[in-house]
Amino acid sequence: MKSAAARGSRPAHRRGIGTLAVFGVGLIGGSFALALKKRKAVTRVVGVGRSRANLQVARRLGIIDEIAVDPARAVRDADLVLLAVPLGQTAAVLAQIAPHLAAHTVVTDAGSTKRDVIAAARRHLGAVFARFVPAHPIAGTEKSGAGAAFGDLFEGRNLIVTPEPETDARALRVVSAAWKRVGMKVIEMTAHRHDRIFALVSHLPHLLSFALVDQLAARKDAPVVFRHSGGGFRDLTRIAGSSPEMWRDICLANRDEILSALDDYLDELELLHGMIDAGDGAGLELKFAAARAARAKWLKPA
Ligand code: NAD
Repeated sequence: MKSAAARGSRPAHRRGIGTLAVFGVGLIGGSFALALKKRKAVTRVVGVGRSRANLQVARRLGIIDEIAVDPARAVRDADLVLLAVPLGQTAAVLAQIAPHLAAHTVVTDAGSTKRDVIAAARRHLGAVFARFVPAHPIAGTEKSGAGAAFGDLFEGRNLIVTPEPETDARALRVVSAAWKRVGMKVIEMTAHRHDRIFALVSHLPHLLSFALVDQLAARKDAPVVFRHSGGGFRDLTRIAGSSPEMWRDICLANRDEILSALDDYLDELELLHGMIDAGDGAGLELKFAAARAARAKWLKPA
């Protein structure tokens, strides 16, 4: 353990976090705590949750050191507060903690959408809004809960931060440094751009995956159909195993961007429908070749 003097000689953002309070100790919140612990970059982790059983799992797995029943007490001594709850819970948690935050405490989130989170933070945090850093780690799996957390989840992945004009530079440094410590590359963009991009590459694909499984499951012969499915179907539908609550909230939070992405996709399906109906083999082949080339270009090592 380094002396206080040695710790003090390093810039604040290079030092570890003293106390981290995690609201929502699930896949993301739990993995963040585990990853920091693995790198000895946090002294104490306090977990706040909706389900006592999940928090007990988190403590047993060494993800958190303490379960906090009272949100006010949980944030009182925190250096960093991470909100990793379903988006529909964000505003309520911010309202609960706002009056109890210490003057130095930095608050951040991991939500999959950013404009709604920023609006809620602006509404509930008042002057503390400057110390709120909106962020989204681009890492995850289809699994939920503390039991799904693992310390390498963020290694080599991107963290998107979407600071606002008021965002305090020190708060941004603290949050960026913490995510860098767990292996992430930090990318800055506006919340609007973030929500547009992730509607296309994350929210739309999840919607399609849920829709495909749901539609097939409603068929009378669903058991036979599923029994004969292969690797392609499994790949395409892996993300339909994701949390329904989380995806309900994302769809509602990013409504306009998702509807716009869905409209464009429906147009594309309509086009393919027309080509198949007309027996336009050349047209279909051109479409598929263009898609295959675009995918190869995207995946080509830099
Ligand atoms: P999760 O279901 O694994 O964990 C969420 C946890 O929040 C649960 O343990 C739940 O009990 C708890 N919770 C719910 N309401 C709460 C409340 N009011 N107070 C305290 N705790 C509460 O979900 P996750 O995958 O870790 O996602 C968390 C957040 O991270 C979401 O906002 C999601 O949009 C975002 N995110 C998810 C992924 C992903 O791939 N799963 C990736 C990036 C960002």
